[in-house]
Amino acid sequence: MASFILPNAMLGIIGGGQLGRMFTVAARSMGYRITVLEPDADCPAGTLADVHICAPYDDADALDRLATTCAAVTTEFENVPASCLARLAERVKVSPAAASVAIAQDRIAEKRFIAGAGLRVAPYRAIHGPVDLDAPLGDCLPGILKLARLGYDGKGQIRVGTAEEARSAFRTLGEKPCVLERLLPLRTEISVIVARTGPGEETCFPVAENRHEGGILDVSIVPARIAPAVAEQARVMALRLAEAMDYIGVLAVEFFVLDDDSLVINEIAPRPHNSGHYTLDATLTSQFEQQVRTLCGLPPGDTRLLSPAVMVNLLGDIWQDGEPAWDRLLSQPNVLLHLYGKKSARIGRKMGHFNVLAEDTDAALHQADDLKSSLRRNRATASGSPSPSES
Ligand code: ATP
Ligand code: MG
Repeated sequence: MASFILPNAMLGIIGGGQLGRMFTVAARSMGYRITVLEPDADCPAGTLADVHICAPYDDADALDRLATTCAAVTTEFENVPASCLARLAERVKVSPAAASVAIAQDRIAEKRFIAGAGLRVAPYRAIHGPVDLDAPLGDCLPGILKLARLGYDGKGQIRVGTAEEARSAFRTLGEKPCVLERLLPLRTEISVIVARTGPGEETCFPVAENRHEGGILDVSIVPARIAPAVAEQARVMALRLAEAMDYIGVLAVEFFVLDDDSLVINEIAPRPHNSGHYTLDATLTSQFEQQVRTLCGLPPGDTRLLSPAVMVNLLGDIWQDGEPAWDRLLSQPNVLLHLYGKKSARIGRKMGHFNVLAEDTDAALHQADDLKSSLRRNRATASGSPSPSES
């Protein structure tokens, strides 16, 4: 008989950002208690958790407290040192496993693992030092030089056309380990989120189509506007990868769709993913509920899509004219707003998102784009006149 961790148990999460916050909400509404480990006293998850341990992720006393007070521990981000997770796992249930997180936190290990599992990645080279850029690079140029560790939202990446540009980019990135990967012609980008409790206990969410702006996810469209066979292929590849990793937890797999409809795996995230935020409103189980369920040894919930949906990220940029015009958004009955409670709105900072649920993706996308452009206070409304709330 499987042993489940049941409501009232204390669950721990390392990281208190928006993903930790949405995990906390899901877990608490299911009756679990939550301890967050996060050094930022003002973090999005801190005020909603039962306990906030305000300490660095690798603080020995803090990890000891997690191990002694929690029934199981998860993470909201891949940059927690894998060694901390491994140490925790000696005393308490941890998912995803340190070994899975270690793969996802290093692009070199990640690409090697994915290719080793027989799945396709972009042609690439591991770059450990300048000498690696003296070898023939033809199949990787034009390309993108990416820091192997700690990059996100397109940060730590430089596009290069020639070996000389690659050498100079490597210096700009501080000569830290990188991957150089070929710049591929993309038809579109998609992602698949897998929830896996163990062999045979696994499920995928519907495939999301992702539109980026300035290297940051802007919009996710579900279902993705791709051929059913391509969507099926993506699900098969994502499940195969999760199985190869012996993965327990929620795993996001980002894909490039090339011009011939073939699929290349871009990268993975060992956690719920921004492109899965539509599941908060549009699927029977959300990706955060799946994180709770898989952490607690419960089978993943049903991922059926209840409605076509479009998710739009709200970056700090739209706060530049003051608090956005929420009335324009909240007056729409089919739009659901999620804000992360962050105090300062910086350019490019993820502050929240909204989901539009509609009859079809075209209608949802149209409404989503209109709403997004209406949110800044000093913009005229669609009719050209300012909204009453601006007076
Ligand atoms: P995030 O954290 O948002 O996932 P990231 O910093 O991990 O971003 P990547 O996913 O590696 O960065 O790249 C960001 C975006 O840059 C991709 O979604 C894609 O639009 C583009 N991109 C990255 N690599 C390639 C490539 N090899 N060919 C074409 N486009 C690429
Ligand atoms: Mg990415």
